[in-house]
Amino acid sequence: MNSSVNGSVNGSRVLVLNSGSSSVKYQLLDMADGSRLASGIVERIGEGPVADHSAALKQVAEELAGQGLGLDSPALAAVGHRVVHGGTRFTEPTLITDEVLEEIEKLVPLAPLHNPANITGIKVARDLRPDLPQVAVFDTAFHATMPESAARYAVHRETADRYGVRRYGFHGTSHAYVSRATAALLGRDLAEVNTIVLHLGNGASASAVRGGVCVDTSMGLTPLEGLVMGTRSGDLDPAAIFHLARVGGMSVDEIDTLLNKRSGLLGLCGDNDMREIGRRMGEGDPKAQLAFDIYVHRLRKYVGAYAAVLGRVDAIAFTAGVGENSAAVREAALRGLSVFGIEVDAVRNALRGSSTRLISTETSRVAVAVVPTDEELEIASQAYDLVTA
Ligand code: AMP
Repeated sequence: MNSSVNGSVNGSRVLVLNSGSSSVKYQLLDMADGSRLASGIVERIGEGPVADHSAALKQVAEELAGQGLGLDSPALAAVGHRVVHGGTRFTEPTLITDEVLEEIEKLVPLAPLHNPANITGIKVARDLRPDLPQVAVFDTAFHATMPESAARYAVHRETADRYGVRRYGFHGTSHAYVSRATAALLGRDLAEVNTIVLHLGNGASASAVRGGVCVDTSMGLTPLEGLVMGTRSGDLDPAAIFHLARVGGMSVDEIDTLLNKRSGLLGLCGDNDMREIGRRMGEGDPKAQLAFDIYVHRLRKYVGAYAAVLGRVDAIAFTAGVGENSAAVREAALRGLSVFGIEVDAVRNALRGSSTRLISTETSRVAVAVVPTDEELEIASQAYDLVTA
C-alpha cells in the first residue's frame, strides 16, 4: 500500500484510475522518481455502502486524504484514466474534453461492458477536480500501428467498415511497457529489438513488436479472440456460433456469456486459476492436464506465427499473473524450440522472483525474459508526458 510519502516536487503526481463495472482501482504515482505513493481498490460498486461510481470515487478521495495525499494537493499534475476501447479514433493518450468524451461514448457498442464504466469514472473525477487535466489512455492505442494486412479481417469490405469490424487489440499499455522494458533488460535500443510479448493473465494476449512498433496482436474486435484465457475461449471457428444458435437454440447473449465467461480454462476443467490447475495436474487429474495442454498448444501456435511475422525474433517476454509466475507454462510453451534458437534454462526458469529477469540459456539466440508488467506506471507516464509536453 502506501510507501514513503514523497511530495516535495510540485506538480509531479499522477492519479491513475481504472474504473471497471463494479470496481475502481487507483494508484497515486510520483513521476519525479516513479514511486508509488498510494494504491487501493473500491469494490462491489452498486451493492451496499458504495452506491455508484460517484460514491466510489469519493471513497478514493477520502482514502487519499486520510494519508495526507488529498486530491486538492497542488502536487497533483493529472488524472490518467484507463479506457478500454479507443476504436480507430484514438491512437494516442488524449486530453479529455467534452468532445473527446462524446467520441468515447460513441465507442460504447464496441466495448459495452468496459467503456461506460470508464466514462463514468472520467465524469466523476472531472467533477471532483474540474481544473485538473484528465487524460485518457487507451488499451487499444499501442496496436494502432498494425499494418492493414494484420488489422483487417477477410470480411466483406463495406460491411466490415460500416460496423467497425477489424482487429483493434487490447492490453496495449502492458505490451508497450513490456516491449520497452525487454529492450532495456537487453541493454539495446528499442528500435533494434523484435519482441514477442505474451501477456498471460486472466485475460491473455500475444503481440509481435518490431522495434517498439506493434505489427500484430492476438485479441481482435473484442478481447475474445486469440489465446485460451481464464474464462474466454480465444480462437474458434466462427461457425460454432451459428451452430450453437441453430442447433443448440442459444441466443446471441447466451453464446456471448458462454464464450466470454464460461469457457477457457474454467470451461475446460472447472478452474480458471493456473495455480489450482497445477495442483490438480500434480494429482494426475486428466481434465486439468488437458486444459493446460490446450492452453499451451495455442500459445505455441502464436509464438510460431509471430516468429514468422517478425522474421527475426530477438526476445520473447512473459508477463502478467501466469506469465510472471508459472514456470510450468513458460517451459511447456517453449519446449523443444532450439531449432528456432529458443532455449529456456531450467534453473533460471524455476527461480521465483518479482524482478525483470532472463530465463534463456547463455547459448539461446532468442532472449527469453520474465518482465513484470506495470500498466499503472505506463498510464501515469503517458498522462504525465502529455500534460508536461
Ligand atoms: P492477472 O490477470 O494478470 O492478475 O493474472 C491472474 C491469473 O494469474 C490468475 O487467475 C492465475 O491463473 C495466475 N497466477 C497468479 N499467481 C500465480 C502463480 N503463483 N502461479 C501460477 N499462476 C498464477
